[in-house]
Amino acid sequence: MSKDKGFVSEITPQAEDFSRWYIDVIKKAELMDYSPVRGCIVFRPEGYELWENIQRDLDQRFKDTGHRNAYFPLFIPESFFQKEKEHVEGFNPELPFVTEAGGEQLEEKLAIRPTSETMFGHMYSKWIQSYRDLPLLINQWANVVRWEKRTLPFLRTSEFLWQEGHTAHEDEADARRETMQMLDVYTEFAENVLAIPVIKGQKTPSEKFAGAVDTFSIEAMMKDGRAVQAGTSHYLGTNFAVAFDIKYLSRDNNLEYCHTTSWGVSTRLIGALIMVHGDDRGLVMPPKVAPTQVIMIPIGPPKTREQVIAKTDELFAELKAAGVRVRVDDRSDVSPGWKFNEYEMRGVPIRLELGPRDLDNGVCVLVSRVTGEKKQVPLDNIAAEVKAALDAVHEEMFERARQFREDHFYSVETLDELKSSADEKRGFALAGWCGSDACEQQVKEETGYTSRNIPFEAAETKAKCLVCGDASKHTVVFAKAY
Ligand code: AMP
Repeated sequence: MSKDKGFVSEITPQAEDFSRWYIDVIKKAELMDYSPVRGCIVFRPEGYELWENIQRDLDQRFKDTGHRNAYFPLFIPESFFQKEKEHVEGFNPELPFVTEAGGEQLEEKLAIRPTSETMFGHMYSKWIQSYRDLPLLINQWANVVRWEKRTLPFLRTSEFLWQEGHTAHEDEADARRETMQMLDVYTEFAENVLAIPVIKGQKTPSEKFAGAVDTFSIEAMMKDGRAVQAGTSHYLGTNFAVAFDIKYLSRDNNLEYCHTTSWGVSTRLIGALIMVHGDDRGLVMPPKVAPTQVIMIPIGPPKTREQVIAKTDELFAELKAAGVRVRVDDRSDVSPGWKFNEYEMRGVPIRLELGPRDLDNGVCVLVSRVTGEKKQVPLDNIAAEVKAALDAVHEEMFERARQFREDHFYSVETLDELKSSADEKRGFALAGWCGSDACEQQVKEETGYTSRNIPFEAAETKAKCLVCGDASKHTVVFAKAY
């Protein structure tokens, strides 16, 4: 078997076993490795750089909407969690504690943060006195820990990296505006940067964040038809303000509770972009976050090598100066074919093949990872050519993901219909729901589908609950989820 073929055959085809495919590609592309601690992964440079690119773009969006970054401690006194009843019930099963340090038993156990509403609440109660201190808009980039029973690299790990925004406002209207604004920021980012189409909507009460009044999410469809909750934004009402005594003197001199929000996305986004875009050849990186956007591969016989490399270096400098994340692979101990496969597997959006004859003619070959299309492009305006090609790759990736989702989105009237079609259709099902926890639970028990959200925009409005047949209160997206 040739080296080229052997390379790709190490990736399990998606149709054979999607989970296996996922693990194969993330390991082979060196995004992560397992650590000795259960559910915790190592972000290798390629995976971490992906996160840095995600981070940079999102961070700018947070700043553009008036937020500032800060850093709060990793350890949270146990008593903080007792202050908000729903919050403690929701998070207790997943909390790890430090009970001993420096050889001594601690007076109070310290939780390792699973999220920081309580710590922000504690500090906000000190910092906020008057309406002039509001809104208070802070974000932090941090690691958090949730002792998850089921884990999967990136998508659900025990320790993960994320950002958590925490804001305090004068009234409900302002806090709700913030909640929606951040959901929109996530949507924009998912679609325009990660090329992942998402469904915006509200979580049902059983799926909302522990301690929130309302939770809103963006949901994405993976290539196996399963859902990933890609981000959440919570309106917390006065729940945490009451628990932590976050009060302010209002414009008409009354002492009022703040209305607060929180919102977060995590390194789960990495898992999502892999599962939305990847194919049997490996990763397909969205150009706007790809660690390497363009790989340049000089080709041709040894006698022209020097000349080809000189020209390649020139073009490399030009692309780099234009802000393109570009690399050259001029190794002579591996064949061009091997390199083509390697960078396809790593998902590099654009490959430039530079051969002596083409260079003499003032052109090179540009290959798109997503379509496999090859075209000759002129060298005299290479930066503009490459940028246009990167945009085209993004558009193509988004369109393919949108089409896939459309093809796997269906509508059911009854639970029986969902049961009989679920396996064959593999996707998102739109159905009516009466609003009762019992009916929602029954869907989960009998099909493994959970309510993803109540979409803000649905193709149709359902009249009846799929389980009990009573009048439907909401039209809900159900799916199997990661
Ligand atoms: P939450 O604070 O529960 O709303 O979580 C905020 C976001 O973090 C979610 O929307 C997920 O995208 C992500 N997330 C939650 N749990 C995990 C986990 N165990 N591993 C990775 N990401 C997670």
